[in-house]
Amino acid sequence: MKTAIYPGSFDPITLGHLNIIKRAANCFDKLIVCVMYNMEKNTGLFSPSERADLIRRVTMGVPNVEVDVSSDLLTDYARAKGATVVVQGLRAVSDFDKEFQMALINRRLNPQLDTMFLTASEKYMYLSSSAIKELAHYGVDLSGWVPWEIIDDVEQKMKELKGALPAF
Ligand code: ADP
Repeated sequence: MKTAIYPGSFDPITLGHLNIIKRAANCFDKLIVCVMYNMEKNTGLFSPSERADLIRRVTMGVPNVEVDVSSDLLTDYARAKGATVVVQGLRAVSDFDKEFQMALINRRLNPQLDTMFLTASEKYMYLSSSAIKELAHYGVDLSGWVPWEIIDDVEQKMKELKGALPAF
């Protein structure tokens, strides 16, 4: 059984992430989408477990996808899960530098672990979770960028966050 991991922040999941998930799920027996977080740097729109819930909701139709949350080192996590491949999405040259470095470090830490890069769909090349948060902040319609099942959640969360900010 070939298991791969697709790690990321997913704050929140976008249609770009979902596109990579569906394509990667076609290549492996099992794909674990893992929300990786750093306990010292726990800032974000959604908490790690909320992000995982959103991912679960939008991947319900993909049977070989499992969703998890972890603050472990990716290479240790992969070893524990018996995964031999890390999937990364590549949007542009800027992603490549960072991901290439991580892939080499990860292989040094866990020689059994290889990284597979999937190029972003051209429709979503420019899409990132931070862009989504910026758009949501200004109340822009998120359809076409975020899975429709979670648009209300993103809008609602952004409203709560704005309500909690001090007024100028
Ligand atoms: P971001 O916050 O920039 O969206 P994440 O940490 O959530 O990034 O991304 C997880 C993985 O998904 C990374 O490999 C990243 O390169 C990839 N990715 C992010 N957005 C896209 C997209 N629009 N198309 C393809 N891959 C993507």
